[in-house]
Amino acid sequence: MIVSYKNELVNNRIVGTFCSKCETKFLPPRPMCAICNNDNLSSIEFKGTGVIVGFTKVAVVPSSMSKAGFGADNPYWTCIICLEEGVNIPAVLDLDGYNKAIKPFIGMSVKIEFGCKSEIYFKPL
Ligand SMILES: [Zn+2]
Repeated sequence: MIVSYKNELVNNRIVGTFCSKCETKFLPPRPMCAICNNDNLSSIEFKGTGVIVGFTKVAVVPSSMSKAGFGADNPYWTCIICLEEGVNIPAVLDLDGYNKAIKPFIGMSVKIEFGCKSEIYFKPL
């Protein structure tokens, strides 16, 4: 399931699973519903838009983000995004090309940025 999720991201699609019994959506996809244990979930594609519901600045970075150029002198914002479909996911906020004064805020509208490698990136709308 997780492998196909990553594969779909490469294909510019965000695909999770949906439980038709209790109408819960999962991203990353799960093989079984965590609410009602239904094991007959279907695929659902997410639009990739949402709003920031939480954020923090990260200056002590994991090695994958260090390789991407982030660190104490170039921290990044990691956020919890509530997707339009009502599912929360963690993601990096990409502010490259935006005014340096821009900072995330609760309720900021964001959109997924496809084509990123190790993390999921969103940018302001
Ligand atoms: Zn369910």
